[in-house]
Amino acid sequence: MPRQRKFFAGGNWKMNGNKKGIDDIIHFLNADCVDPNVEVVVAPPAVYLEYVRQKLNPQIGVAGQNCYKVASGAFTGDISADMIKDVSCNWVILGHSERRNVFGESDKLIGEKVKYALSVGLNVLPCIGEKLEEREAGKTEEVVFRQMQAIIDNISPNEWNRVVIAYEPVWAIGTGKNATPEQAQEVHKGLRNWLSKKVSSEVAEKVRILYGGSVTAANCNDLAAKPDIDGFLVGGASLKKDFITIVKSGS
Ligand code: PGA
Repeated sequence: MPRQRKFFAGGNWKMNGNKKGIDDIIHFLNADCVDPNVEVVVAPPAVYLEYVRQKLNPQIGVAGQNCYKVASGAFTGDISADMIKDVSCNWVILGHSERRNVFGESDKLIGEKVKYALSVGLNVLPCIGEKLEEREAGKTEEVVFRQMQAIIDNISPNEWNRVVIAYEPVWAIGTGKNATPEQAQEVHKGLRNWLSKKVSSEVAEKVRILYGGSVTAANCNDLAAKPDIDGFLVGGASLKKDFITIVKSGS
């Protein structure tokens, strides 16, 4: 059965790599990761955005891993959505769990960042996800709906075609313990139903919801087979050739 939404494979390199290692990744991406059925976007560390954009096949997108909520100013250490655009990159990941939990970013700040990045024309990839104790307390939906509310409040109806959501349970990120396909499907379906009530049935049907958290070449096919999983945001495995297998799982 053909997929309802174009499959999306995102590679979040986090704070990893150097020019030599990045050259190796670009080499296998250019050789094997261009697939008409899959949208591929990689997110290098900010200092390498332009380097990667210049060397990567133009059919593969490049994303910032984060940016601030205004164009410029006295915000030492940060970068803006305008700068990401200025070096010809079209995407930004926002609200990744490491931004939320290591750097203390609030739902409100993430919402403001989403609004600003969309206003300058970037495509945005907002991330949401519950912690282990929240899942165990039966609060998964409460948490992800609260996080989503702060995001949807900042998206205009005509901007939804530039939004891809990533559901990444915090307990699955970098732990080797992925959500089962059933667990992920349940949350994705719940999110889609919630979006149809809170935004519109059209947005709920069209928006892609990615799963992230210990996605590997070994588990991607079972996850990709679920009807509401429209792709992946991949950390560790996106630095390796395994990423090719993950991209192909959506083809
Ligand atoms: P992981 O990271 O694939 O290494 O678990 C996913 C992410 O943080 O996006």
